[in-house]
Amino acid sequence: MLLSTLTTHSPEETEQAAMRFAERLQPGMFIALSGDLGAGKTVFVRGIARGLGIMRDVLSPTFTLMRQYDGGRMPLYHFDVYRLGSEEELDDAGFYDPAMADGVVVCEWAERFREALPDDRFEITIEAAGPEVRTISIGGGPDAAG
Ligand code: ADP
Ligand code: MG
Repeated sequence: MLLSTLTTHSPEETEQAAMRFAERLQPGMFIALSGDLGAGKTVFVRGIARGLGIMRDVLSPTFTLMRQYDGGRMPLYHFDVYRLGSEEELDDAGFYDPAMADGVVVCEWAERFREALPDDRFEITIEAAGPEVRTISIGGGPDAAG
């Protein structure tokens, strides 16, 4: 289900869109982020963090696989699975840890492991439409699997 499509014209605008999106987030939700390198996935996660009230700077977890951010209205678990080779490695990285149900999980490069994602999830795709223009589509949701 496609919920909305929007166009942004700066990183700040993408962050603000993500802050608004974060208002609807509840513990246990999963957000799959897709899009090329430099599309703005990490910028979007930064906005989600701000929207949840997390003050720490959000860095790409490419080398750590997962970063946890506390201090907001719920924890944020931020994965980047770009470098992972298999679903087994996902498991080793803590991707299926049930303890994360107390917060929201966001995953960059989710399209690489579509089969491994929970059925109920938000699907967010970011595409560059110019140096500073991005098209962001938001679909799915907690009842996406029906
Ligand atoms: P990804 O995580 O998808 O690889 P990043 O979020 O790390 O991408 O980087 C996106 C880059 O694109 C940043 O350098 C950011 O400043 C730039 N950018 C330019 N315009 C936008 C926009 N409208 N939205 C998001 N990022 C933008
Ligand atoms: Mg990134």
